[in-house]
Amino acid sequence: MAVAPGQLPVQMPAYPIASDARLAGDSRQTRFVLDLDKPVQFRAFVLSDPFRVVVDLPQVSFHLPTGIGTGGGRGLVKAFRYGLVMPGGSRIVFDLTGPVRIANASVLDSANGQPPRLVLELEEVDQASFARSLGADGQDPQTSTPGVTVTATIPSGPPTIQPPSAMLPANAAPPNAAPDSRPVVVIDPGHGGVDNGTQSGGEVPEKEVVLAFGLALRDRLERTGKYRVVMTRSDDTFIPLDDRVRIARNQSASLFVSIHADALPRKEGEAQGATIYTLSDKASDAEAEHLADAENRADAIAGINLTDEPTDVADILIDLVRRETRTFSNRFARLLMTDMRPATPLHKRPLKSAGFRVLKAPDVPSVLVELGYTSNKADMEHLVSEAWRGRTAEAMARAIDSFLAKRIATAAGERPEKPGVRAKP
Ligand code: ZN
Repeated sequence: MAVAPGQLPVQMPAYPIASDARLAGDSRQTRFVLDLDKPVQFRAFVLSDPFRVVVDLPQVSFHLPTGIGTGGGRGLVKAFRYGLVMPGGSRIVFDLTGPVRIANASVLDSANGQPPRLVLELEEVDQASFARSLGADGQDPQTSTPGVTVTATIPSGPPTIQPPSAMLPANAAPPNAAPDSRPVVVIDPGHGGVDNGTQSGGEVPEKEVVLAFGLALRDRLERTGKYRVVMTRSDDTFIPLDDRVRIARNQSASLFVSIHADALPRKEGEAQGATIYTLSDKASDAEAEHLADAENRADAIAGINLTDEPTDVADILIDLVRRETRTFSNRFARLLMTDMRPATPLHKRPLKSAGFRVLKAPDVPSVLVELGYTSNKADMEHLVSEAWRGRTAEAMARAIDSFLAKRIATAAGERPEKPGVRAKP
């Protein structure tokens, strides 16, 4: 990225360096050790189908011997791979021979001439205890944390057991510094600042329509007191797409809702009504693809390019969690369609998917709602109506309530049985 004159010089952050890694143990108990040049915070969790353990770290420079991780595993670990999954976030994924529990996950300070080390100890468990650790059946979105199943969240201090609602990003503050445990809902009004979004016939620009709607939705959600609502923007500011995604991840969001209002070129007919988009590599139709391209160009309009496209390695890693997250996103999209139908006209095919960059947080269920077409006269009439806005924000809030209801019940005290993390003396 070019630095404009007058801007502060960009300091390259000094990321922690991982210099070596090793596996020890046998098929009952396997230990993984990663040598670092400074302690980091991380979280570790298990996934099923296939059995994996995932370690999320702040961004780390991996200077590991070539081929490490793939040259034959040891004990419970068949292989492991690592890489950058998002700007600011690295991940290590272990492929396992079978179900495990995380018996210990900690960071040791440098001592006795040894560098700081990340230590992960895995213990073989039977299928039944593994399934219990994932939730009722390990698959039902309602019984586990949306996104991924967190078994343990490990700050660099003494290991602690975290409630399932604690979806800490790798670089978050230690959990005891965050007393507000309510689920975080991120509302993302599209475009802003120099980027007006779509604008038809000198009418109100998209960025204003969607900001007004986003604020109405925020107010409605905050009134319940059940959520912490975070806006990616609450005024006319330009926010790059990647930053919107980063906000959701850094806030450990339970849900990300991006709000837009579409326009169609005249020759493409008179489409009408709201559409709910989820992420897909392959667009569900030509219109969805066209729209995703248009929305993804937002950064180019502002003259900056933050396309930190993940590498191939990162793609593979993201894929693992993305699969789980997609299930939750689709479930929320269907709830949204049902609740919005009585409040606002929907597109004739209201559920679609395409490669929207803003939906790419691998571990935050995300949808993008096009409220209607600014190019359609009837749509535009209601898009600027306060009565419509109140009614539709209400409908959307109801869908968010249903989606997160189970989760709040869990956070309120009836914690499902989870395996603890044992502190090692
Ligand atoms: Zn837009």
